[in-house]
Amino acid sequence: MKDSKKLGINTICVHTGEVKDEQFKGAVSPMFMSTSYAFDGVDIKRYPRYFNTPNQEMLCKKIAALEHTEDGLIFGSGMAAISSAMFAFLKSGDHVIIQHVIYGGTFNLVVAEFEKYGIEYSFTESDKASDFKTLLKENTKILYIETPSNPLLGITDIAEIAALAKESGVITMIDNTFASPINQNPADFGIDIIVHSATKYMGGHSDISAGAIAASKEHIAQIWKTAINFGGNLSDQNVWLLERSLKTLNLRVKEQTKNAQKMAEYLENNKNIDRVYYPGLKSHPQHELAKKQMKGFGAMLSFELIDGIDAMDFQNALKLIKPSLSLAGLESTTVSPAQTTHALLSAEERLERGIKEGLIRFSVGIEESEDLIEDIAQAIKSVHKRNG
Ligand SMILES: *Cc1c(COP(=O)(O)O)cnc(C)c1O
Repeated sequence: MKDSKKLGINTICVHTGEVKDEQFKGAVSPMFMSTSYAFDGVDIKRYPRYFNTPNQEMLCKKIAALEHTEDGLIFGSGMAAISSAMFAFLKSGDHVIIQHVIYGGTFNLVVAEFEKYGIEYSFTESDKASDFKTLLKENTKILYIETPSNPLLGITDIAEIAALAKESGVITMIDNTFASPINQNPADFGIDIIVHSATKYMGGHSDISAGAIAASKEHIAQIWKTAINFGGNLSDQNVWLLERSLKTLNLRVKEQTKNAQKMAEYLENNKNIDRVYYPGLKSHPQHELAKKQMKGFGAMLSFELIDGIDAMDFQNALKLIKPSLSLAGLESTTVSPAQTTHALLSAEERLERGIKEGLIRFSVGIEESEDLIEDIAQAIKSVHKRNG
């Protein structure tokens, strides 16, 4: 087969890293459930927790091809991937600089665990590379970013962060979950380590918990040494399901991205909506930057309902679009951060983070955009009616 780099994206999604069914010549990868393999020399001890069963080893090739890196690893969750990646490069006395807005689980990992191991950390005050620069110290080992970020879709300049890290001899990590490899390939801009919650777009059907890392062979080898001790491998059954899901990754995400643009434009022109946050809108403050580093603007957006429309009432009135804490499935879902993910913060703390009471995060699925628009329109109408 041709080098993956020269294959088209859908071909990579379908074929790269297939496990050949030599015995029966089936059309799809056979699933190897063995946890026990013959000793095949000291270099290859096959074992699930060694991340090298046939299904794991082959699927890593697809992850790497999708992210334009040399190698990859698959985990039991996004957090297993993120924690293994971080701890592989950190020791007591090291310092990490982390983007101010990051996924809640990653934030918890940092604030709950790092101090115990004597690892220092600083959060930036903004997405700007200059902010990372002022926090650089002698012992800084990692710059950690997430773009687009959750829930306000802020954009960090990937190339600037990568350049800053290179001149300072620091490793860069990015959480590329929101964009997915279809809409953004950070390795092309010089980022070292790319992490994903494969529970989201890579899985795409809201039925698998998984994580992935894409990086150079050298970085993956170092992460692997820590990962086998942490034991966060994915079961082969789910590796197989993830392979099946990835076959349609491009088709799904392209369609979802197209839908999101339509929804963002519809919402921006709706008088019941105060503001829409979507990098594909010209009104997004970093639209030009997003254009520079993203191939598509993604399928996540957020919007603010006008005062007088209650976020929970609005969501309860939706008939097609489901409320859901998670995101990135084929089905459209919403969550209102102020009442759920950020409910434990005070109203003031939420406002500091730009999270208003009427904010809705919208994960756009593959349904017809006309049906989604119709659903939102009827929900707004019904809430208005109830309010008199
Ligand atoms: C969900 C998510 C994670 C964590 O992934 P899990 O699979 O839940 O462990 C990390 N980053 C982002 C951006 C996410 O959305």
